[in-house]
Amino acid sequence: MKKKSKKEDVKLKFNSSWEYAPAPESKDHVKINSSYDLFINGKFTAPDSGKYFDTINPATETKIAKVADANEKDVDKAVKAARNAYDNVWSKMPAKERGKYIYRIARVMQERARELAVIESMDGGKAIRESRDIDIPLAAAHFFYYAGWADKIDYAVPGSKSRSLGVAGQIIPWNFPLLMAAWKIAPALAAGNTVVLKPAETTPLTALKLAEIIQEADLPPGVVNIITGAGATGAALVNHPGIDKIAFTGSTDVGKIIQKSIAGTGKKYTLELGGKAANIIFEDAAIDQAVEGIVNGIFFNQGHVCCAGSRLFVQESVMDTVVRKLKDRMETLIVGDPLDKNTDIGAINSKEQLGKIKQYLKIGVNEGGEMYQSSCALPSKGFWCRPTLFTNVSQSSRIVTEEIFGPVLGIQSFRTVEEAIEKANNIPYGLSGGVWTDKGSKIFKVTSQLRAGVIWANTYNKFDPTSPFGGYKESGVGREGGLHGLMPYLELV
Ligand code: ADP
Repeated sequence: MKKKSKKEDVKLKFNSSWEYAPAPESKDHVKINSSYDLFINGKFTAPDSGKYFDTINPATETKIAKVADANEKDVDKAVKAARNAYDNVWSKMPAKERGKYIYRIARVMQERARELAVIESMDGGKAIRESRDIDIPLAAAHFFYYAGWADKIDYAVPGSKSRSLGVAGQIIPWNFPLLMAAWKIAPALAAGNTVVLKPAETTPLTALKLAEIIQEADLPPGVVNIITGAGATGAALVNHPGIDKIAFTGSTDVGKIIQKSIAGTGKKYTLELGGKAANIIFEDAAIDQAVEGIVNGIFFNQGHVCCAGSRLFVQESVMDTVVRKLKDRMETLIVGDPLDKNTDIGAINSKEQLGKIKQYLKIGVNEGGEMYQSSCALPSKGFWCRPTLFTNVSQSSRIVTEEIFGPVLGIQSFRTVEEAIEKANNIPYGLSGGVWTDKGSKIFKVTSQLRAGVIWANTYNKFDPTSPFGGYKESGVGREGGLHGLMPYLELV
């Protein structure tokens, strides 16, 4: 047996103080079918394609269920159902009645919150703490919030009248499956539109559970249609002539394809795309609080967040302290079973995504970056990545300019406020950012000059349905959340 070095001994002792007995969330109350059809016109319907694909648990690599793969004919059926429901039911219904249905969806979501949280963690790999405490409550909160707007649309823009657009085609990614569905569906319905939603191919299950909830809430058939499939299904939805508006969250590459394909069609669109958020820590910041915020911003949720704080700028005088404290804190993070309530970092969403992250780790090292990973043990099956940080990186390093979508942090130093702002803005993305300082004046200066849609001060990743979210530059077009998120589903007349 290899003799342990003194350093390893210290690490083991340090880790042992953080060992917890397993505390897995129960799966007994969860019902998952072995096969799911498409949710069209209020019913689960077998796909015209006759094809199905597997959705797997990324923590165990086992199949959870098979899910229908919608082709163009299926998309057409869903869009026609949505159009019919729009023309004959939803657009004619008094707004306060629409509001009641949306409230009902919110309430059933709350009632089934535990079930939804477990399924979200099984299908997507995120730690149950995240899905239980953040994703599901926030998703329900979005339905509650927009339900309140349904009968107040006339007051949304004082002095003008507005009307709904018609049928919205909505495409969402795999990082916040149910929450993204809520961000899309709730404002669309409140504004009087009907919907065809396509969840991501690796995380379709909570959207399909939402279809069951929609049935339970007795929403008129066709108002919400949920179709599953991969990129080709998404493209068919984008290109369908019966769609009035596209709402997309996903990669900048696909966002650009969508923009090109709908150019000149008159379809309205909102795009929430990639990000490469900068956190800036000034020497006067509460360092422990900042370190906790950085860890929350990039490591929790496996870095699978478009607003993940993946770039860190630290004022030179506190650089060593911040890096040391970050490494200490990383060493305590528990990577493993997403259903365990102690887990900090769950599984990477898919084998493909893990491959992409590993590729970036190699690139970082080859570019001369100094890589540090925590020493935690990883489960033998499933897709995992230890929390990772890079120092000795530059503004041109690919790991600090490209979106990795994994628990990988690139750290650089700065000396002046101006330098920090310049460096943080030197990127094609502009979704979010964070500033850590004791001085209010610095917060105002930095937040007013950072070119990003959302900037948190002395905190990170805080969300609320009343607050708009969206990007500058290649991070997207339009806002979701709040009144701003309602407007892209309305037309002023
Ligand atoms: P990510 O990198 O987060 O997976 P993608 O942009 O690839 O982001 O995927 C986000 C969503 O867009 C998924 O639901 C995916 O199936 C869908 N999608 C992928 N390609 C296309 C396309 N060409 N047109 C429309 N939707 C697409």
